[in-house]
Amino acid sequence: MINNLIAGEHQPAAAGTGSLPIFNPATGEVIDNVPLSGAAEVDAAVRAASHAYSHWSKTPVMERVRLMFRFKATLEEHFEELAALVTRHHGKTLDEARGEVRRGIEVVDFACGAPTLLQGRTLRDVSAGVDQDLYRYPLGVCAGIPPFNFPVMIPLWMFPLAVVAGNTYVLKPSERTPLGGLRLAELFLEAGFPEGVLNVVHGAKDAVDALIAHPDVRAISFVGSAPVARDVYRTAAANGKRVQALGGAKNHIVVMPDADVDLAVGSILNSAFGNAGERCLSGSVAVVVGRAAGNMLAPLADRAAGMVVGPGDEPGVQVGPLIRAEHRDRVAGYIDRGVGEGARLLVDGRKHMSRPGFFLGPTILDHVTTDMSVGREEIFGPVLSIARAGSLDEAIEQANRMALGNMATIFTQSGRSAREFRERVEAGMTGINVPIAQPFAFFPFSGWKGSFFGDLHVHGSDGIDFFTRKKVVVTRW
Ligand code: NAD
Repeated sequence: MINNLIAGEHQPAAAGTGSLPIFNPATGEVIDNVPLSGAAEVDAAVRAASHAYSHWSKTPVMERVRLMFRFKATLEEHFEELAALVTRHHGKTLDEARGEVRRGIEVVDFACGAPTLLQGRTLRDVSAGVDQDLYRYPLGVCAGIPPFNFPVMIPLWMFPLAVVAGNTYVLKPSERTPLGGLRLAELFLEAGFPEGVLNVVHGAKDAVDALIAHPDVRAISFVGSAPVARDVYRTAAANGKRVQALGGAKNHIVVMPDADVDLAVGSILNSAFGNAGERCLSGSVAVVVGRAAGNMLAPLADRAAGMVVGPGDEPGVQVGPLIRAEHRDRVAGYIDRGVGEGARLLVDGRKHMSRPGFFLGPTILDHVTTDMSVGREEIFGPVLSIARAGSLDEAIEQANRMALGNMATIFTQSGRSAREFRERVEAGMTGINVPIAQPFAFFPFSGWKGSFFGDLHVHGSDGIDFFTRKKVVVTRW
């Protein structure tokens, strides 16, 4: 059984606490167990963070940043170990895991800019002999609730910016992939951060409810499915907390008749089947406009059917397993429903379900419409829907009919079509000739509509604003 990490110590959850197995999804074997902590463990972690806050919030910014640079160096030293850990208990390929760790470290790079990022501003002589200054202060104890699909990157979206701004932190990793967050917290201590600045409590709904109810938690960062994001946002906001809650996605990829076919096909394969489709930036529906269908569907189907499915640590593997058998079965259920609703099965990945582990291969459903469940709902697996449109207007209209608005991307060689798409598509992360429109750490990760609840997004300048409160001082001497 893995432990919580509270006040710098590995601490077991109370006797009698429930637990869940942690699997290697590529083999189906149980590799460890995770405790399902409750209010008592959450309270211990919040107390440890509150205690640490009294000195950490007064630690000069240069000292906080020196430790953040050391954390960055420690992460680099353990880069391969972290990537292997991600592959082992999440299942994604080693290359994908390396990409995840790199994107996570980039947030630490960004956090190292705190002496600039945390600056306030000043305006002298706002009226005769009167000056105004804006200062930034930390909030107190902040908490993070990540999803299973990026066990290292998403925790790194959360606590580095919080602590570099002077807050202390309680992280509740996903109960399905808890090893990434726990290892990060160990490396954080190894880098020299004081005990209690970052604490880890494992668990699921009960632990989340206890964090949301705790009077000493000032801010909640949540990333996960849309219904839970909405509930966490509502309850935490009602409890007076600052909240950023990132939800699910139903991302559309529009392919115009003038698109570079090779680029579009390669990008769609990467977008839809990379990370086995378990990515909030995965392309879920490809809307092919006019004669684009004739150009690209045959090579797309051929290449999807030829993708190598297998354990993420085997060389040459392109698509790893899904997170759990139940999730794989749920995704396979969508394939049946899609066919039942009238979609045509172009590539069927279900043949991979018979092997050990939680595998499902790339699957393509054609002639999907927005009134089918596969055309509307988040599937979160390697299932690509193809929809048809007669014009760019129709394609944008289809994408905008989604309740979720995380990402949308277009493939075209026309600047006019690209600009039209950029202006009218209702997705906070928009791509032009790219498979995944992921903002770098210094921009906000900015989903729209049902994909996001709150005001300030994660990382970028929004992250700094989220983790600080502002004080304006008006002075006359
Ligand atoms: P999930 O909603 O099941 O779980 C997310 C977190 O919430 C976990 O830590 C879990 O323990 C906790 N949780 C689960 N059910 C809860 C409940 N009823 N009450 C309180 N807490 C609860 O999500 P998941 O399956 O781990 O992750 C996949 C989802 O996350 C997908 O919908 C995906 O699109 C989304 N996601 C979104 C982004 C984004 O940036 N918008 C990024 C990654 C993943």
